[in-house]
Amino acid sequence: MTLPGYGLLKGMGVTLRQMFRKPITVQYPKVRETPVPRARGVIALDQEACTVCMLCARQCPDWCIYIEGHKEEQEPSKPGGRVRVRAELDRFDIDYALCMYCGICVEVCPFDALFWSPEYEYTEHNMDGMLHDMDRLQDWLATVPEPPGLQQ
Ligand code: SF4
Ligand code: SF4
Repeated sequence: MTLPGYGLLKGMGVTLRQMFRKPITVQYPKVRETPVPRARGVIALDQEACTVCMLCARQCPDWCIYIEGHKEEQEPSKPGGRVRVRAELDRFDIDYALCMYCGICVEVCPFDALFWSPEYEYTEHNMDGMLHDMDRLQDWLATVPEPPGLQQ
């Protein structure tokens, strides 16, 4: 049997203890924490590596990747060879107002064209600004950290 008021005292004890602890939150934007290198901040696109296969757009659970492309014929690599066809990107947008940062697109890309960057400071005053086009996604590539070394 518990004494009357025991729960209240216990709750007050927890409150008192927390009052003298150092807060675990920081006063952003005055204080900025450095995210861990593999944090999911923003997705970067390597346009050269992308083959417009559409796999990421099809697998995205939020349907927030928009891709358009066209095919271009290229000169054969040697005289008399076959004309090669290469898919070129016309549009690659990610709508970060919809993205839930699940990382499926990065995981499924068979050509290593998508990467996580720990950058997180890209808030906007309106929703339109959260749609990053392919040039903006390409610019994020400079912020992608080196992959960790292989474990021996
Ligand atoms: S992280 Fe997830 S929700 Fe965001 S674009 Fe990629 S697949 Fe879509
Ligand atoms: S899965 Fe990779 S290669 Fe295919 S469209 Fe997406 S980013 Fe490009």
